[in-house]
Amino acid sequence: MIKERLSEIREAIPSHVTLVAVSKTKPVSIIQEAYDAGQRVFGENKVQELTEKYEQLPKDIEWHMIGHLQTNKVKYIAPFVSLVHAVDSLKLLKEVNKQAKKNNRTIDCLLQFHIASEDSKFGLSFEEARDILESGLFLEMYNISIAGVMGMATFTSDESQIRDEFRTLENYFNVLKSHYFKFNDSFRHISMGMSGDYGIAIEEGSTMVRIGSSIFGSR
Ligand SMILES: *Cc1c(COP(=O)(O)O)cnc(C)c1O
Repeated sequence: MIKERLSEIREAIPSHVTLVAVSKTKPVSIIQEAYDAGQRVFGENKVQELTEKYEQLPKDIEWHMIGHLQTNKVKYIAPFVSLVHAVDSLKLLKEVNKQAKKNNRTIDCLLQFHIASEDSKFGLSFEEARDILESGLFLEMYNISIAGVMGMATFTSDESQIRDEFRTLENYFNVLKSHYFKFNDSFRHISMGMSGDYGIAIEEGSTMVRIGSSIFGSR
């Protein structure tokens, strides 16, 4: 079942778009099934769950932390995480850099933006992100790489609203790219799109979709 769902989704997304299989709340046996079907990139939103799954599953899995990350928990995932999707403060960026350095690694990070109309969702405003980048401090953090932007659209059936929010994120990406990362190829990802809205996200320029329930069933 999972194998079929995965191949349907792979067929529906262009080859330049990375599929992050969001496996939160699902047991390792189910993740192993997706792994056996060829999936290598998985996303989790809780540090403890992520760490436990990392320990039990094959080591060539690329683990993405897609949820809100507290500074005091960065140390647990720094040894192995490949991409942190939800960096929403300079403080968190500094901590990821510090812990990555301790582990002799470079960790890719995305700046999370608040694009939804709900206020329950985390993320930076454009001005906050600009302040972080304008400080130039990230240029001296040698163990992180700012790899792009991430955002979640409002949970709504209004497609035009979702499309507008994704457009906003794509626009932020372009502006930041041209101001701060013009000659930096590492800044390349727009992580947007989940089970309910990834089609729209891809039309609006997503390079990375985070899909859970359409692969693994409802939670
Ligand atoms: C759970 C989650 C997803 C996946 O959601 P689905 O609707 O199950 O595809 C994507 N992104 C984030 C940040 C999540 O927490």
